[in-house]
Amino acid sequence: MSGGVTRLRTNEAPVRGGAGSVAASLDELARIGATADGGVTRVAWSPELFRAYDVVAGWMRELGLEVEVDPAGNLLGRWEAGSGAPVLVGSHLDTVPSGGRFDGALGVVAAVHAVRLLKEEGFEPGRPLWIVAFMDEEGTRFDAALFGSRAFTGEDVTRLGDRVDAAGTTLRDAMAAAGYDAAVAGGASRIADVGAYLELHIEQGPVLESEGLDIGVVTSIVGLRGYRVRLQGAANHAGTTPMALRRDAFVGAARIALALRDEARAREGVTANVGRIAVEPGGANVVPGVADFTIDVRSATPAGIAELERLVEETVARIAAEEGLRADVRQTFALEPLELDAQLVDAVERAAVAERAGVRRMPSGAGHDAMLVGRHVPAAMIFVPSRGGVSHSPDEHSTPEQVELGMRVLAGVLRESLRTE
Ligand SMILES: [Zn+2]
Repeated sequence: MSGGVTRLRTNEAPVRGGAGSVAASLDELARIGATADGGVTRVAWSPELFRAYDVVAGWMRELGLEVEVDPAGNLLGRWEAGSGAPVLVGSHLDTVPSGGRFDGALGVVAAVHAVRLLKEEGFEPGRPLWIVAFMDEEGTRFDAALFGSRAFTGEDVTRLGDRVDAAGTTLRDAMAAAGYDAAVAGGASRIADVGAYLELHIEQGPVLESEGLDIGVVTSIVGLRGYRVRLQGAANHAGTTPMALRRDAFVGAARIALALRDEARAREGVTANVGRIAVEPGGANVVPGVADFTIDVRSATPAGIAELERLVEETVARIAAEEGLRADVRQTFALEPLELDAQLVDAVERAAVAERAGVRRMPSGAGHDAMLVGRHVPAAMIFVPSRGGVSHSPDEHSTPEQVELGMRVLAGVLRESLRTE
C-alpha cells in the first residue's frame, strides 16, 4: 500500500535543511502536498507551494542567503558575493497534480546543497550566485506554464490574469488570495541583472538509464507547436449509412494521428502526439459528425519545427479532403527550440568527467524554465537518470547516489563559473 510508504517517511528524523543528503532534503520537501498514492501535489499559487517555499527559504537563510519572493511569485535566495552579474541556479517547486518528488524540486534542492558545499569548502565567489524557484513552471492549473520565468525574463504576464482553473478561479484571484497582485507581476523582470543560468533536472525520459549513464549534458531544448483541430463531417445512422458514403470525423482524426506518427518516426529527434480528442454527438450507434482534437509536435531545430508546421497543415488538409471533412486548424502554442550555450555546455561536461560520471550529450524533449531564461543569457542544463523514464507520476524516481552526483556536478560548474565575473 503506497499510503504506508508516505507515513513511514513522515516518521523519519527531521533533516536539518540542506545539511543531510540531497535525497533526504527531497524527502522532507515531498511531505508538503503529499498525496495518498505516494505523489506530491503542489500546484501554482497553492498554500502547499508556499509552505514548500517556507522550508526552502529556511535552508537559504541558514546559509546566509538574502531571501525574497518577487512580484511574480518566484522564490530567490541571493548569495551577494564578489562583483558583476550573478549566476542564477534553480528550477521550480510546483508540481503537476500527484506528481513526483524530483521534477523541479531537485534543481532547487541541489542548488541549496551546492551552495552549502561551496561554503563548507571556504570557496569565495568572484560574482554573486542567486538560487531561484520559478513560479508555475508546470502550468497545469491555469494553463499559464512558465509564468515565473516569463515574468523574470520581461514578458508581459498581466494578460494571463484572466485564465481560470478547473474551479473557475481566475489566476488574478488566486494570486490575490496568496497576497500577490497580478497587475504588478511585471516587477519581477530582472533578467538584465543576470549573467548566466544553470538548471539541474531529472531527464524525464529513459535514455540515460537505458545506456547505463549518470549525467546528461543538455545541448538543446526542443521547440514545440500545439494545435487544436476541428473536423466536421456528417453525423448519421451507424447501421443505415453505407461505408462509402460516410463522412466520419473520428476516422479522419485517427488517420491524421497515424500519418503524423509515421512522419515523426521517419525523422530523428521529432515527436508527434494527439493527446486529447472529443467526438460529437458521441453515440455508440452514430457516425461521429465532429472530432475536436489536439496535436503536439516537437523538434530540437528551427528547420525541424518549420517542417513540422508544414507537415501538420498538409496532412490535415489532405486527409480531410480524402474523407470529405471540413477542417479547421488553429495553432494554440508555440515555443522555439533553444541551443544551449556552448561554453557552459563544455563546462558541464568537464565537471561531470571530473566526478568520474558516465556522460553523454543529449537534447531535452521537455520544456523547462531554461528555455526562456536561455534566450537572454548563456544557459546550460544537467540531467540525472529517471527510473524507467517515468515523470509527472508518484513513480518518478532517481537514486540518492544519482541526485547527489548531479549536485556535485552542479557545484563543479559553479566553482568554475563563479571564479570570475
Ligand atoms: Zn520540471
